[in-house]
Amino acid sequence: MTAAAPFLIVGAGQAGATAAAALRSMGHGGRIVLAGDEASLPYERPPLTKAVLADAGMDGRIDIHPAGFHDAQAIELRLGAGVVAIDAARRLARFGDGSELAFGRCLIATGGRARTLPSLPPGTPHVHYVRTLADAQALRAAMAGLHSLCVLGGGFLGLEVAATARAAGLAVSVVEAAPRLLPRAVPPEFSAWLAGRAAATGVELRLGRSCTSIESKADGVALAFDDGSTLHAPLLVVAIGQTPEVALARDCGLALHPHNGGIRIDAQCRTSAPGIYAAGDCASQVQPLAGEELRLESWQSANEQARIAAAAMLGVPTEAAATPWFWSDQFGCNIQMLGLPSAATTYHLRGEAAIDGTPKFMLLGLDADHRLGYAIAVNAGGDLRPLRALVGQRIPWDPAQLRDVSIPPRQLVRDALSAAASPSLS
Ligand SMILES: Cc1cc2nc3c(=O)[nH]c(=O)nc-3n(C[C@H](O)[C@H](O)[C@H](O)COP(=O)(O)OP(=O)(O)OC[C@H]3O[C@@H](n4cnc5c(N)ncnc54)[C@H](O)[C@@H]3O)c2cc1C
Repeated sequence: MTAAAPFLIVGAGQAGATAAAALRSMGHGGRIVLAGDEASLPYERPPLTKAVLADAGMDGRIDIHPAGFHDAQAIELRLGAGVVAIDAARRLARFGDGSELAFGRCLIATGGRARTLPSLPPGTPHVHYVRTLADAQALRAAMAGLHSLCVLGGGFLGLEVAATARAAGLAVSVVEAAPRLLPRAVPPEFSAWLAGRAAATGVELRLGRSCTSIESKADGVALAFDDGSTLHAPLLVVAIGQTPEVALARDCGLALHPHNGGIRIDAQCRTSAPGIYAAGDCASQVQPLAGEELRLESWQSANEQARIAAAAMLGVPTEAAATPWFWSDQFGCNIQMLGLPSAATTYHLRGEAAIDGTPKFMLLGLDADHRLGYAIAVNAGGDLRPLRALVGQRIPWDPAQLRDVSIPPRQLVRDALSAAASPSLS
């Protein structure tokens, strides 16, 4: 390795593009090579199941950085160029075309791939997965002219596809093996509200239903369920989660998490190999709020880890990552989640969880010590914002006050802070 060896970023997605820009804004003057196996400029994935699916006019409007940005920042883009191997000891990367690049430091930001059903590999007629822009464009084209579709998977992506398709006038069925929607991310009362909201828009929900067979036929997909019922759908969207893309990391001997499969990184996004970092959906990191190692599949986490990794690549100490935050837009509602849920969290409703109209409410999750660990806001992002800095802090909240909508959120924060500072509670 020489002082002039470039910084290589593998994966030109959210984390990779953000890290490249951060390296420049932090003053790095050396070569930066941003390599991605997709041909498109780095783009945002959240609109794929929302605006892009609804509107072909969005296709050119989701780039992470404006046209000309990479040239202006002297970030060398190698698009459509997959890295096929990394030699961690020699700090050498090999591309699919056989070319090699010696790097000084490397960030692996390879994201994830849609989890597929072995019986329905990508390319199966009438079956779609959504991870890339090309996937979303193909699904949009397939939806045009159809009257109905079925979504397999009641997670965020599946529900967003369902909501977008329903808004476009299609009859939509959602099949979820768990007895409720979003079972890992939200408490039962929120799942129930969301199911009510989805049903009110006309979506047919089949919860707690496992498929016993799925077959692609000439005119669509035939599904059979464990209760003996069947469904024929002209189009099936499979949204059953993602798997981290860690082939490169595994092959070059980096430590992977035994359960979540992600590349293990420390608080500075360093992997087990010197000079190699990881960020985004492919990375597994201890989350202080949860007290365990997790892979957070979120836009904010990809951006945060990218900035921390860039700083670490430059040898600059960084502050701790921000509180996890995630959002979803579905069934006419903006849903935001702050913090992380735990089995011990108890929830307090602030506002009215109405099914119809434009509901505005929050579910605020307190732990046994009445500390705020998790919050869900529906059409209430503005109310959630003042609470951001206080999630996970050793501040006791008064549940009755949290539920009282006559107390503005900023006042709640002031009251909680002064209660925490008062000797009687210390
Ligand atoms: C459809 C969809 C909707 C979403 N909606 C939301 C939302 O509403 N809110 C939210 O918070 N989050 C959302 N997310 C999650 C968020 O977009 C991801 O967490 C984020 O994109 C992760 O960034 P990343 O850089 O880790 O991975 P990616 O953005 O996936 O980028 C990884 C890139 O690396 C490339 N790559 C992989 N292997 C190689 C290789 N060997 N060589 C070169 N390149 C390689 C991949 O092709 C890809 O382009 C959504 C995700 C999807 C898919």
